[in-house]
Amino acid sequence: MVRTQLAERGIRDLRVLDAMRSVPRHEFVPESFRQDAYEDHPLPIGEGQTISQPYIVAAMLEYLALQATDRVLEVGTGSGYVTALLSLLSAEVYSVERHAPLAASAEATLQRLEYRNVKIKVGDGSQGWAEYAPFDAILVSAATPDMPSALFDQLREGGRMMVPIGPSSCQELQLIRKVKGQPEVKILEGCRFVPLVEGAVDGG
Ligand code: SAH
Repeated sequence: MVRTQLAERGIRDLRVLDAMRSVPRHEFVPESFRQDAYEDHPLPIGEGQTISQPYIVAAMLEYLALQATDRVLEVGTGSGYVTALLSLLSAEVYSVERHAPLAASAEATLQRLEYRNVKIKVGDGSQGWAEYAPFDAILVSAATPDMPSALFDQLREGGRMMVPIGPSSCQELQLIRKVKGQPEVKILEGCRFVPLVEGAVDGG
């Protein structure tokens, strides 16, 4: 997976490639899809949600250019796969998931695999996690039509946010940096994520 889907498609950051080599993706996929865990596409994880395609995860992590000292917010824990990668690439990870059963299962997997610098909560991640703000970096794993301003507010000066922005049919990855309090936007590649659902949580 790392060689053919990531390195050969231009992912160069060695920390990202090492982390992707180290996290056992099959542990984050339901039993019935294990044999496909390392294939080049997203997979269902229950509750109508998906674990993201390996390439898009690597691209988002490479653009974020995380430092080992960073405090990171993840919106959309899902399976916990990206959470595990963030745990290796940064100092502290705070992850919010609106589906209680997914949050519980991700937390159990991450604990079993001993990713320790991670905190997960059930909630509406579009509101961020004010208690632990400001963040050096924010990764949003669900699509939103506009820049999530509550999340931008929780970035530190110089911090950056990776978010898929656009209609539900297709979006573009945007890297948004906070420069003198204002967003500086870089448009990257096309992508397709499940929608960011605001408001009440499911199954809480
Ligand atoms: N990174 C995850 C991606 C999961 S898909 C993985 O690879 O497994 C996106 C996730 O975002 C879904 O689990 C969905 O329930 C969650 N989500 C959608 N809207 C949300 C919101 N407002 N707050 C928190 N999580 C949300």
